[in-house]
Amino acid sequence: STDVTERHRMAEQRERLLEQERQQVGRLREMDRMKDELMALVTHELRNPIAAIRGYAELLADDAGLSSTQQTFLDVIDRKSTQLQRLVDDLLDLARLDTGQLTLDIRPLDLAHLTRQALQDHRPAAQAKQLTVTAELPARLPMRADALRLRQVLDNLLSNAIKYTPSGGAITVTAGLAARRDDDSDGQDEGEDEGETAVVIIADTGIGIPAEQYEHLFSRFFRASTAKDAGIKGTGLGLAITRAIVTAHGGTITAAPRDGGGTVFTVALPAAW
Ligand code: ADP
Repeated sequence: STDVTERHRMAEQRERLLEQERQQVGRLREMDRMKDELMALVTHELRNPIAAIRGYAELLADDAGLSSTQQTFLDVIDRKSTQLQRLVDDLLDLARLDTGQLTLDIRPLDLAHLTRQALQDHRPAAQAKQLTVTAELPARLPMRADALRLRQVLDNLLSNAIKYTPSGGAITVTAGLAARRDDDSDGQDEGEDEGETAVVIIADTGIGIPAEQYEHLFSRFFRASTAKDAGIKGTGLGLAITRAIVTAHGGTITAAPRDGGGTVFTVALPAAW
């Protein structure tokens, strides 16, 4: 009957549409993959020329015979090429993430030591802004993680705290082991390392983040209105990479407003895995 033919025709049409959709999805996937590969290739190719520019700028800086004008120009070259290198490194990390090439080198390390090193390296920048930096760290905080990647996490959070805190403000860094809250409710303390979480808390008295913007904070290229209004420059890539590194370690990172103004970032990582 006509009813049957009609139903048959509609089924065929549905099938055609589905097939078109599948092809479209396939094409988009392929384009996305090509975009990722291009990103990886371009950023990788940019690293060598930038390294060369920085290298020669350094050699020139060693030359005692420079005039003060030449010295000024050289400072700009140095500053701008450093900035460019950071951007390219960040883009390369994101490309690696997208292509599944961000691999971790997990080894035993002392998180307290790593944090002290990071603090030490950021001290001049904090001093330049008259920021009070206080640290509450245990003597040792042994765990297993990728040391270079964790340094990247600490460096990013510390440089943000410094960058987004006006002169005279304060930064507090606390670290320690916490018992991991797990779902097993037998009430027994298993007493194993697996149950422990290494926690680092970085708090600042800075410009803060508007409440409704916290949910976007770890998205690529996102910059809070407080940062833009204050005219502080940035790319919005650091926290996206930071979260990806923490997540790859099986950990979590959260941000919250600090009582009395400012921001608190909390990183929690499984201590042994
Ligand atoms: P960038 O600093 O290059 O803009 P990030 O990804 O590191 O990028 O940070 C994203 C945004 O989060 C920043 O632009 C800023 O708005 C906000 N932010 C990050 N850290 C802080 C902080 N400590 N205090 C206030 N805002 C912050």
